[in-house]
Amino acid sequence: MKKRNFNKQVLTRFTQTECKRQLFLDLSQTLPKLWRDPNRLLVDPKRMHRSSENLTELGRRYEQRVYEQLIKIKGVTYHLNTEKNVKRSYLNPIELLNYYEQENAEPLVLLEYQYRIPSSFFSQVFFLGSKTGTIPFFWSRQRPDLMIIRREKDLNKQYSELLADGTIRSIPREELKTRFSISVIDIKNIRDENIGKKQFIEILYYMLSLTHYLIENKLSSKFFVNIEFNGILPRLSEENLLEIKTSEDIITNTITVQWEESNLILNNVISQIKNLWKLAPCPIDDIPVNIQANCGFCYFIEDCKDTLGYDGNKARKKPPNE
Ligand code: SF4
Repeated sequence: MKKRNFNKQVLTRFTQTECKRQLFLDLSQTLPKLWRDPNRLLVDPKRMHRSSENLTELGRRYEQRVYEQLIKIKGVTYHLNTEKNVKRSYLNPIELLNYYEQENAEPLVLLEYQYRIPSSFFSQVFFLGSKTGTIPFFWSRQRPDLMIIRREKDLNKQYSELLADGTIRSIPREELKTRFSISVIDIKNIRDENIGKKQFIEILYYMLSLTHYLIENKLSSKFFVNIEFNGILPRLSEENLLEIKTSEDIITNTITVQWEESNLILNNVISQIKNLWKLAPCPIDDIPVNIQANCGFCYFIEDCKDTLGYDGNKARKKPPNE
């Protein structure tokens, strides 16, 4: 397990399994004494899933294929590695301010730009009034595949920004002349009909953490996270991919997050994390397991099998603690 144990995959896994035991074990990986009492050892996983590694590699290759097309678009900004693949860059507040100062700036599309989530995000969103005042895990940086930054030109349309507390605010028309909108998009090698809450949770996490990044870096008077135009660019046919020639085309091909419905997914994960933190520290076995088909892909399956007294062919040794 990585040292930075809190990342978008934790949210994705919970959205998929709705298993509190998995969420608790994920959250408590690096600072277990804050969560687990007694802090017993977990049963080690037996095998790695090669199929999921292969899927990750296929996803990475597809992403690079999409980038090959996107880098032809004016305003797309990126860096290449020695293999001529788009590599990680760092979101620099000064670059954003320079872009803001440009007259008649074209939309800016950042590929693979990484930013650090300020601790205020966790202390305000997850652990407001936390009993210890600490954030009980280490968290990863964020790196959405694409960020589209632009001045919204249709002043007759009503735009809304995402605020740091997760609520939204309608932007007065005049304000649109002085603030740029930011939208976040991830590329997934998945057909559009299979895109759902598991993918959207990542986008919602980017959006809310980015709002905090803007505040922390004193950029929120000039930029806002637009609740529109965020989502997943799904697997496209070669023909459709070649049709993407502007940043607007990217948005047109994106399966967008509908804020009103989707933010409930994020709110659910946030409240589950808050509830688990209220219980902590507690015995691992106080947190119920949620046995299901996805268990076969779970890192903690051997530990759950042990809890349930299942050794592969024999009956349970002891009942589940639910
Ligand atoms: S193996 Fe299943 S029950 Fe156990 S933590 Fe994972 S998802 Fe939950």
